[in-house]
Amino acid sequence: MGNSYTDLHESRILLYYCFTPIADPTAVMLWQRALCEKLELTGRILISEHGINGTVGGTLANCKAYTKATRQYPGFKKMEFKWSHGGAEDFPRLSVKVRDEIVAFGAPGELKVDENGVIGGGIHLKPQQVNDLVAERGDEVVFFDGRNAMEAEIGKFKNAVVPDVNTTHDFIRELESGKYDWMKDKPVVSYCTGGIRCEILSSLMKNRGFEEVYQIDGGIVRYGEQFGDDGLWEGSLYVFDKRMHMEFSDHSKQLGHCHNCGAATNLFHNCINEACRKQTLLCDECAHNPATAHCGNPECIEIAAASCH
Ligand SMILES: [Zn+2]
Ligand SMILES: [Zn+2]
Repeated sequence: MGNSYTDLHESRILLYYCFTPIADPTAVMLWQRALCEKLELTGRILISEHGINGTVGGTLANCKAYTKATRQYPGFKKMEFKWSHGGAEDFPRLSVKVRDEIVAFGAPGELKVDENGVIGGGIHLKPQQVNDLVAERGDEVVFFDGRNAMEAEIGKFKNAVVPDVNTTHDFIRELESGKYDWMKDKPVVSYCTGGIRCEILSSLMKNRGFEEVYQIDGGIVRYGEQFGDDGLWEGSLYVFDKRMHMEFSDHSKQLGHCHNCGAATNLFHNCINEACRKQTLLCDECAHNPATAHCGNPECIEIAAASCH
């Protein structure tokens, strides 16, 4: 008998996170691993004493069974799962691990959570509330990008401050550098792709004297779903799968430029230097010419030049 609406053999990806105290992360890890194996899900799950962060793919029926079973754990009862297209084929294997942090800020001892989530984080704003805040407070509002700087090269909130970070590990050094002290008494809206990084970042900011910190519920993804390219967001969204970037409408602004020739592009390519592989914005032409398919680092320029002979 066929299913009337959706084929349960179709594939899906689940994205989710939850901050909640986990007394025995190893036990949760073993349970999650067995559950995923039974349901033939692949993907990546991190568990720490502060919560869980996962992306898994499989059949629609098995994904449904997974959400149901996972919500049985008392701390995960209210967990929201974001469904997206794709499936087990998007992930080569299953990896379920215990880590000190579910997002590596290098501050496992500083983060505090209880059953309601992160303690002392920024105030959550729904997409409409972000617009309301800006309508009310105007230029006083500062958008603070909670992602890696390269992600903001192709899209960001209008006039956002983009800290100089290569990985989330760099945030504490940046926040303590004094560069951002001017915004400590201003309304600061932190944002990231789906919201998880700002859960932590906003608490680190508050701990360092930023007085009025907000974070966007569901991150750029949820804001973009609601306002597309007709709100305060500009450009493309960097995504961590093979698509590399996505747009919210057919009229998104193109912010990215080729590091080599300056042509408009939204596509990242790995630097040709095997020892570097840094993701670099390059136009098609520069990316396909070995002499120019480098990240701009002097060493990489040399290797690129040598590869042409
Ligand atoms: Zn180019
Ligand atoms: Zn390089």
